[in-house]
Amino acid sequence: MDSSRFLSTSVTELKPSGIRKFFDLAASMDGVISLGVGEPDFVTSWSVREACILSLENGHTAYSANAGLIELREEISLYLDRKFHVNYEAEREVLVTVGASQALDLALRAIINPGDEVIIPEPCFVAYGPLVKLAGGIPVYVSSNSNNGFKTLPGQIEKAITQNTKAVLICSPSNPTGSMLSRKDLEKISVIIKQHDLLAISDEIYAELSYDEEFTSLASLEGMRERTITISGFSKGFAMTGWRLGFAAAPAPLLQAMLKIHQYSMMCAPTMSQHAALEALRNGEEDVQRMKTDYRRRRNYFVRSLNEAGFPCQTPGGAFYAFPSVEYTGLSSEEFAEQLLLEEKVAVVPGSVFGPSGEGFVRCSYASSLAQLEEALKRMAAFMKRRQRSGAH
Ligand code: PMP
Repeated sequence: MDSSRFLSTSVTELKPSGIRKFFDLAASMDGVISLGVGEPDFVTSWSVREACILSLENGHTAYSANAGLIELREEISLYLDRKFHVNYEAEREVLVTVGASQALDLALRAIINPGDEVIIPEPCFVAYGPLVKLAGGIPVYVSSNSNNGFKTLPGQIEKAITQNTKAVLICSPSNPTGSMLSRKDLEKISVIIKQHDLLAISDEIYAELSYDEEFTSLASLEGMRERTITISGFSKGFAMTGWRLGFAAAPAPLLQAMLKIHQYSMMCAPTMSQHAALEALRNGEEDVQRMKTDYRRRRNYFVRSLNEAGFPCQTPGGAFYAFPSVEYTGLSSEEFAEQLLLEEKVAVVPGSVFGPSGEGFVRCSYASSLAQLEEALKRMAAFMKRRQRSGAH
């Protein structure tokens, strides 16, 4: 009997993530250097791990409050105020979630009616479109251009607005391009969002990892707090991907609607992870800065070397991704990623999986040791030389 007939159409219509395919292929091979994964190579700080151990020793193994431990929500509220100059009331405007992933899912489910459109600048994080669709909405992608560093242009957003538009999903610094929107850029976008009376979902998961200019939180801009759901978490800046801890901050009516879904679908985020996150916020700043300094050093080395090896790449302002062009290889981004993996055992992600504007580019995560980056670049340069010698393009 074919059990697949029980599946919902929203699930059968969903395409599997293009990233997984490369992970699976890379995992089946020996000696692969992976620049494919979007996660820090640092182990979570010892003091944070210790806080979790202590929490377990103290027997904190039960559910927490649905919205998260109140001490943690208070700490998140202080953190957002201290670092990004946005004010949220811990009791009613902060929600602790299972990663930024769940916060995104809740935000979309809380606001979307069937047929509502959500504008998403691409190339973008692979989960956005599928999450919008699963919530019953329609993702409306707007393209961006490598010439201006893949920055989202306000004009592009404005053109995409229809009477069905509910929200605009902004991600800066961006996965996959590392591109970062300046305060001015965000101000221009916010003018349009306000003019058309839209909601903004601001994915600020890479807020801690901005290298050249100060990060601006969208909700801190004039008139934006009341129409923004801020999404963030501990995975990237605090090197805590496996702890599955994120949060959302938004005006009470929005946040409380998200909490309503959360209390039925998830109950609460893992309690021991919440104790760890408390320590990360209270005493983790030095470690965050240390990791950030390290990423910056790797970025500078990696981007310079990519350009020298014939892969034109702009300097990304944040996150830990470089998004070089593979045009001089004469290959599509998918062909390039596949051949590079098979011939040189370096895993990168084809830009096309992040949206049509990503075609011709690949995403390389530089959250790897300098030695690994060096070796990966040697292999990429060898690949490029072979392509050029064979006159393949
Ligand atoms: N947003 C973006 C832009 C991301 O890159 C990621 C992780 N790759 C997430 C959200 C989800 O992060 P988390 O581990 O907190 O669920």
